[in-house]
This record gives sequence, structure tokens and C-alpha cells, in this order.
Amino acid sequence: MPKELVGRPHPQSFFSEFPIESEWDVVVIGAGPNGLITAAYLARAGLKVALVERRYEIGGGLATEEILFPGYYSNIHAVYHMMTDFMPVLRDFELSQHGVVWIKPNQQTSMVFEDGTSLQLTRMLEDTVDSIHKFSTRDAVAFGETLRTWRKVAREIVAPATYIPPMAPLDLIEAMQRTETGELLLELSEQSPYEIITNTFENDRVQALMLYTTCMWGLDPHESGVGFFIPLLFGPGDEQGVLPGRVPQAGIVAGQEIIHAGGTILDSSQVNEITTHDGRVTGVELWEDAPSPATW
Ligand SMILES: Cc1cc2nc3c(=O)[nH]c(=O)nc-3n(C[C@H](O)[C@H](O)[C@H](O)COP(=O)(O)OP(=O)(O)OC[C@H]3O[C@@H](n4cnc5c(N)ncnc54)[C@H](O)[C@@H]3O)c2cc1C
Repeated sequence: MPKELVGRPHPQSFFSEFPIESEWDVVVIGAGPNGLITAAYLARAGLKVALVERRYEIGGGLATEEILFPGYYSNIHAVYHMMTDFMPVLRDFELSQHGVVWIKPNQQTSMVFEDGTSLQLTRMLEDTVDSIHKFSTRDAVAFGETLRTWRKVAREIVAPATYIPPMAPLDLIEAMQRTETGELLLELSEQSPYEIITNTFENDRVQALMLYTTCMWGLDPHESGVGFFIPLLFGPGDEQGVLPGRVPQAGIVAGQEIIHAGGTILDSSQVNEITTHDGRVTGVELWEDAPSPATW
């Protein structure tokens, strides 16, 4: 909590009429994508929800700001999104019918070399194969064959699995062993990204592009046991998209859903303290010194 905010009156107080104390089933702190979606589901489920955001608008990491030059807007955090097609919220809130459409360019990732040549990863498999072909015919063929398998593994297992409760390791292995795709995933899982990439591709530039992409997503290329990420990064991971709009429509739709379901969004309101009693959370205290107890 920034010290200078403590005890000061709020400079943009729009809520002088708001009661000093109010009761809620749930208070969600922060109107970023996670807070918005959580609050929208809870409000739809019939709970009395307040979503509290310290900034002047909702969106959190989805925000677009005029931070460089007048009239020039930048995405300060979430520039592009991946695996959007798998998000349950897309169907549950019918986001596409509310105009939420991701723009997914064919050109996804490029690596430019000192001699002026370049390699491309594209959504159209054939374009990536053509790009690799300039450096290695063998790798171009290997990429075409491997990507078809990796896309299957990612789309059938890894991507949907990100939206189900975690399973016990033994149950997971047993489930994987029941299908050919699952067996392949288990095989990949035992390897490190470096082993998978260098065993599949021979050209050093092709390897460099693949390893760079792996590192960019936070994987240590030499860590064994994380190979199951590779189909995800090069399968649906090659379908990164951008959301148009200043506060992207997805955040606005979730915000509308909260309001329609009877919830409240308090922007320009920072939570200063979470109050507890006997180890249980009982409320939150806002910047304006207005306690807002919730009944958990
Ligand atoms: C530099 C950078 C680049 C990124 N690039 C990408 C990308 O390209 N693609 C991608 O998918 N993701 C990207 N991310 C990650 C993405 O921004 C986050 O995963 C996402 O924003 C997390 O959502 P969230 O709702 O959990 O939190 P946030 O979006 O951070 O939202 C938290 C909200 O809580 C509010 N808040 C905090 N404290 C309080 C308080 N005390 N009281 C009231 N409100 C409070 C904040 O103002 C904020 O609005 C990037 C992140 C960073 C930092």
C-alpha cells in the first residue's frame, strides 16, 4: 500500500452519497480480468457482489493508456492473448455476441538474423514450413509433421485441461495412458524443451527460434518434466490475438454482467485494509475510511 495514500481524502470522490457502511455477500478487490470475471460469475449465481477498483476505470492489465505521446495509446500490460478459444467465459457470457472478437494475424512471431534473413511462425502452417524451408528442407518437413501432432495434443488435452480442477498425478497418468494422444503427451512430458527441440530440428536458426519462444514463455529449456508445454506453445499458442478498443470489450461485457445481475462496481476506490475477526475476513476498509463489512 503506497504510504502517501493513507488517510488522505480521495481526490476524485464520486461517491459521497454512498453509505458509510454496507453489507455484501462478496467483495471482490480489483477490476482486472480475473476480478471482473469472478465477480460476473458470482453475481450471476445470485450473490450480492461489490467489485472495488482503485483506478478510475475497470480493466486492470487490459488497460490502454496515453503514456508516450498525446493521441498515441499503448497496451501497458496485456498486449496479446493466447488460447482465447478455450476460455469458458467466452461461451458462458456469449462474448462474441457482444462484439468481443480477437484479431489474430497470420504473422505471429519473427526472428531476424544479422545477415538480413528471417524466420516466421505463422498461423498458416504452410507459411511457416515455407519460411523454414529457406534454411533446412529436413526441418521444414519435420515442422509440418510435428505441428500436426502437437496441435492435436494441445487442442485435445493440454489446453482444455487448464480449465478443469487439478487431478492427482496417478489418476492423471492413468487417464493419459488410455489414448494414443495421451501416451504421446506423457512421452513429451518426460523431456526438457531443449531435448524436444534439438531432437526434432537440426538447423541452429530453427532451433534458436523455437528455444527463444520457449524462454519467452518463462520455461527453462533445460528443465525436464515440462515438455508438455511445448505442444501448447506451438499448437494453439501460435494463435495469439489482440482485442481492439481502449478498454477491451471483454472487460466491459463482464462489467455490464455484474451490474445487470444486481452487483455494484466502485471505481476510484482503493481497499486500504481487509478486516478480520477470529481469523475470518469480515470486511474491507476503503480509502475514504468507509468500512464496507461483508458477510462471509
Ligand atoms: C508488463 C506486462 C506485460 C504483460 N503482457 C501480457 C500479454 O501480452 N498478454 C497477456 O495475456 N498477459 C500479459 N500480462 C499479464 C496480464 O496483464 C495479467 O495476467 C492480468 O492483468 C492479470 O489480471 P488480474 O485481474 O489478476 O490482475 P490485474 O489486471 O493486475 O488487475 C488488478 C486490479 O486490482 C486493482 N487493485 C490493486 N490493488 C487494489 C486495492 N487495494 N484496492 C482496489 N483495487 C486494487 C488494480 O488497480 C487493478 O485494476 C502482462 C503483465 C505485465 C506486467
